Amino acid sequence: MSVPINLVVLGPPGAGKGTQAVELAQQRRIPKISTGDILREAVQSGSELGQRAKATMDAGRLVDDELMIAIVRERVSRPDAAGGFVLDGFPRTVSQATALDEIMSGQGALLVVDIAVPDDALVARLARRRVCGQCGDTTAVEADAETPRCARCGGELVLRSDDTESVVRQRLRVYHEATKPLVDYYSSRATFRSIDGDRSPEAVRQALNEAVDEVLGMLHAGAGAGADR
Ligand SMILES: [Zn+2]
Repeated sequence: MSVPINLVVLGPPGAGKGTQAVELAQQRRIPKISTGDILREAVQSGSELGQRAKATMDAGRLVDDELMIAIVRERVSRPDAAGGFVLDGFPRTVSQATALDEIMSGQGALLVVDIAVPDDALVARLARRRVCGQCGDTTAVEADAETPRCARCGGELVLRSDDTESVVRQRLRVYHEATKPLVDYYSSRATFRSIDGDRSPEAVRQALNEAVDEVLGMLHAGAGAGADR
């Protein structure tokens, strides 16, 4: 039996984690599960969990751990996730991680890859990001470019208000506060890898695939050894 790819991708906002997760999921033919997507889907399906989530969000509150865990549990138990999945945006807390371990017991090992990018590199990356005021396209500009226009429609490019340095640094502070315990929770495991995300998307994609293959190889060897006994 092949080893399922039960993958959790961690990484700071702006690291390109979502795109990497989508690409890896497509390539490996496993579903990419993001909490935003499954929340929307649960609400649309009108399931009992979905109705509870909708009521919570309609009241302007955040969906709590317990409900989020129940929704993830339901999603990863579906047949299309039997060969694995890529989880993006979950877990965010140690209590969610503990619950995920419990959900996964008997379903194969959890692979965790942290896409690490230094704060300064993220700030510099986001400082170059511009959004077109006309068509909404996002693009990166060179530091020395003079009032560039949108390549798609010629519209004026503007810095998003939430990409200013102080806002980005605040977002990163919140991220590190929440994620540091999560990385500590996972980092001693043999199935944990940290990759350098301060590179081109292609280089990160390659490193992510190598990390996944390496852990899968290790798990295969372990499964083989177990079967021999
Ligand atoms: Zn445009």
